[in-house]
Amino acid sequence: MKTILIIGGGLIGVACALRLQAAGVQATLVDPGDARRGASYGNAGHIGSEQVTPWSAWSNVLRAPRSSFGAGGPLDFRWRDVALWGPWSARFLGACAPARFARGRAALTSLLAQALPAWQRIADLAERPDLVIPHGHVTAWSTPRGAEHGLAAVAAAQWGAASYREMTRTELARYEAVLARPPEAAILFSGTGQVSDPQGAREAMLASFAARGGEVLTAAAARVEANARVTLTNGAVREAEALLIAAGPWSRALMAQLGVNTPLIGERGYHLHSSETNWPHDLPTTVFEENFIAVSRFTTGLRATSFVEFGSPDAPGDERKWRRLRKRIGELGLQFSPKPDRWVGSRPSLPDFVPAIGRLERAPRVLYAFGHAHLGLTEAPITSELICALATDKSPTIDLQPFRVERFG
Ligand SMILES: Cc1cc2nc3c(=O)[nH]c(=O)nc-3n(C[C@H](O)[C@H](O)[C@H](O)COP(=O)(O)OP(=O)(O)OC[C@H]3O[C@@H](n4cnc5c(N)ncnc54)[C@H](O)[C@@H]3O)c2cc1C
Repeated sequence: MKTILIIGGGLIGVACALRLQAAGVQATLVDPGDARRGASYGNAGHIGSEQVTPWSAWSNVLRAPRSSFGAGGPLDFRWRDVALWGPWSARFLGACAPARFARGRAALTSLLAQALPAWQRIADLAERPDLVIPHGHVTAWSTPRGAEHGLAAVAAAQWGAASYREMTRTELARYEAVLARPPEAAILFSGTGQVSDPQGAREAMLASFAARGGEVLTAAAARVEANARVTLTNGAVREAEALLIAAGPWSRALMAQLGVNTPLIGERGYHLHSSETNWPHDLPTTVFEENFIAVSRFTTGLRATSFVEFGSPDAPGDERKWRRLRKRIGELGLQFSPKPDRWVGSRPSLPDFVPAIGRLERAPRVLYAFGHAHLGLTEAPITSELICALATDKSPTIDLQPFRVERFG
């Protein structure tokens, strides 16, 4: 294949554009240009190679009442969007069946085994090895009871290619400088990491793509066709040998135009981001499990993220979520700007939490890469390598059968 139109310029689309270009494919990236719209902008920046367990698990269903926003947890549903998440939830329950759960975990294990090395490879390609910080991440508990439960759950779970160990008292004491009190216990993962800044990483890949002559069209695709013809919202028509649908949660509408029903939902998350911080650069991303927040130090400051709110990716943010996040930040005693950046965005989630990566069976000129849910930052570079293999008629390094979009019927 010599030419491709990539629809969507989030982390997935941008990584694919850079990787395809490096393989000699003339790639054109189509994106409306609002950087804050996609989850690629505001995420926690964690390269989560350890997250091999799909969220579609009975343990999560049973935990749902305790995890609800009303009970102080992160889980919420936008009632106005019940027509979206109602049918999606039915499929989610189906995906929790033990055999499907096991298949999902095997698929994620194969994909995530290469996630961190693939990040290092694409950072090298962009001539920005500093984008990737492979210093692991931390899960911490503030109370003895939380620590006891948390450590037992960690010991019982699977972590793919990542490993972990309990942190020492001396290591925990480092948190004294940034928290009201250090955690009771914590574990440090290795084989995981973070990016130096999510939007910075996206921009660096985009800059590298453009510097090598890559074309970026600032427009939205209004109509996509199986023969790889795209009509833009400004009326212009573009054609190529192939098309890649990589528009995050908005891929659903584009796939519908191609006759494919894709059960994608917006699983919305929130952040507060402070440019002021005393959190050191070498203190890894830390998940405070009992507070339901992840804290990440980026070159641009300190970011706290939380919440899993099912609804439309285009709905406005819920003020209560930002207030709750602020409260959690106060409880932990983090130094934070009085006027932090507030953001809400949507994880593009499929009911079985396995991304859709492949070539459309009914229209072979169409490739797709979306539905990366909680792991789109982690999986963007490995996804780009798999898409590149398909586009250049090479064998993908992993079996793509479990990632077929046709699995949803
Ligand atoms: C709070 C939060 C924290 C997260 N933390 C992490 C983390 O730590 N690690 C991790 O791996 N993942 C994390 N994620 C998930 C990750 O951010 C997403 O999976 C990922 O960003 C999805 O990337 P994407 O490129 O598929 O979609 P998006 O980022 O949504 O990009 C899609 C792009 O397509 C464009 N588009 C839409 N429609 C059209 C059209 N018709 N034509 C052209 N372009 C179009 C959009 O404008 C957008 O720019 C987090 C998500 C959230 C919300």
